[in-house]
Amino acid sequence: MTLLPRKANNDSEKLKCPVCGFKFIPKFFHLEKVDYELAYPDHNSKLLSIRQANGDIKPLNIIRRSWNTICPKCSYIMKFAAEIGKKEVVSESSSFSLVHRKEFKENGKSYKYKFYTIEKPFKEHTEYNRELIEKIQAQVLEALEGVDLNLWGTMYKAWRREGRYDSFKFLIRFISNLEKYSESKGELEEDQEFVAKLQFLNLSEDLIRMITDINLIKNKTIDSNYDLDKSDETLIEFAFIRLLYELVYQHLKPLNLNAIKFNENFDEIDRIQFFTALRNFIYNYLYAYLVFDEFSDEFIVPLLEQLKIPLK
Ligand SMILES: [Zn+2]
Repeated sequence: MTLLPRKANNDSEKLKCPVCGFKFIPKFFHLEKVDYELAYPDHNSKLLSIRQANGDIKPLNIIRRSWNTICPKCSYIMKFAAEIGKKEVVSESSSFSLVHRKEFKENGKSYKYKFYTIEKPFKEHTEYNRELIEKIQAQVLEALEGVDLNLWGTMYKAWRREGRYDSFKFLIRFISNLEKYSESKGELEEDQEFVAKLQFLNLSEDLIRMITDINLIKNKTIDSNYDLDKSDETLIEFAFIRLLYELVYQHLKPLNLNAIKFNENFDEIDRIQFFTALRNFIYNYLYAYLVFDEFSDEFIVPLLEQLKIPLK
């Protein structure tokens, strides 16, 4: 077995094949399976013992198992220590018995092997994948902080899921939160009209029109005892979901999630795994707050498509 030395500092380092010189990030390390049983020195064993020049037979410090990986270019199998057995003295008082199969006597002293495990010598490919997804998840969370999903989500649940808000109360909260949100995004005149305040939000024209309409409905409700009807509720809900969609999109777009820079060793499977993990993360995170009906088809799928995140 060729045992290669372990690198002291191997972060993001590549493994160099000693045969062909190819440098690569190992796809995986396979833990070698070895059936091991301590052989007694006087029975002799090629694996565990060595006959010294003076004729004594001594058990070795043995390497029990290794981490194996294969050079992708020349298929040479490289082995790194994974578990090492070290010979250690068993306390003098301990009585030696054949039951203790791992103990053995040498020059009148009892020894046994103590095993130490050793981490993989280089980072595996999948670890880079995992680190990348964790990094991107953190960026997504940071970007979405600016939307305050908890505020919007709580309001929506109170209306549609818990029945704590009636449609009128929801409408009032919706407009007032949107007003505060707009004010937090730009320099505004105090007496500026509500719709004018929306200018800093960079919303679509369709959405501005819908918000203008529901603001009129709100005023009508307050000023002239108008009762909200079914079509008003539908419009309010539609505008609300559209607003959340546009805010989430705006905050995620600068991350350029479609143009993530992958490790050069990444292959198609890694890419698929990465995007699956990213999609699941975005879905689960948003759905924890935004429990809209048809959330998947009408919110997430169009959002991922617009962000150009692969759906497969
Ligand atoms: Zn090689």
